[in-house]
Amino acid sequence: MGHGVYKFNVGSFKCATLSDGSFTYPSSASLLFTHAPVEEVRAKLREHHIQLELWTEWISPYTCIAIDTGAHHVLIDTGGGSLGPDTGHLTHTLATAGITPTEVDSVIITHAHPDHLSGGVGADGASLFPCARFFIHRDEWKFWTSAPDLGALHAEEFVKQMLVTIAQEKLGAIRKQVTLVDGEHEVVPGIRALAASGHTPGHIALSVSSNNSRLLCLADTVLHPLHVEVPEWYASVDLNPERTVSTRYRLLSMAAHEKSLVHAFHFPFPALGYVIPHGERWRWQAARMR
Ligand SMILES: [Zn+2]
Repeated sequence: MGHGVYKFNVGSFKCATLSDGSFTYPSSASLLFTHAPVEEVRAKLREHHIQLELWTEWISPYTCIAIDTGAHHVLIDTGGGSLGPDTGHLTHTLATAGITPTEVDSVIITHAHPDHLSGGVGADGASLFPCARFFIHRDEWKFWTSAPDLGALHAEEFVKQMLVTIAQEKLGAIRKQVTLVDGEHEVVPGIRALAASGHTPGHIALSVSSNNSRLLCLADTVLHPLHVEVPEWYASVDLNPERTVSTRYRLLSMAAHEKSLVHAFHFPFPALGYVIPHGERWRWQAARMR
């Protein structure tokens, strides 16, 4: 998979989606649609030319976003760092986009999972964005830095332990640069955090607006385009399934209503598209690359 940079504008804001690479998860449908009826999943996948039995691994792209608002150089999520053999390409794609890490003044961490947080800290434990404030939701910080209860996750014990260890280690490394935000908070002018809990307790989405143009960054509200079609099919990594589903309904209807360009971190590069009304729900329409 190439490690691309895709530049686009939102009003006067200069934006780029930046590939961090991808990660191969050892299961697919059982991870992404944990409690969904298998026959329904099989039928839905068939519509997308995926055969359930042959889809044994989920190869997920990781795609961050850089936004130059004119006043601020913002980075949304930092990728997986050394999490997998094909992650941690953000440093390279940032350079390709002409951005030096020291000019980034605001790093927004949508949530403290390793694929979003780890790329902000080097192997030596030093922050890779030394001049930036790191913005993270207060509930997310509180959850991971106290004794987090991952009991609700359908994951093996070592996975839960890994999530906690990495979150605490990386959050510890950036703690002096952290600014906590509450839901519905303007992080920098034109970029607003939207409470989007469910996937994690303090998971946030971001509404970016400039000159009547909009971009909605969903982060991990949805992990796969089928989550747009069937929001009820939550993933094993969604800590609170009910909240995940209600957050999906709220943000997907907002995206469709506003006809905003949408970014979804785990969707195929450039991870941009539109949420199109379809019956009582929606479908994903990937943006055409120029
Ligand atoms: Zn993620």
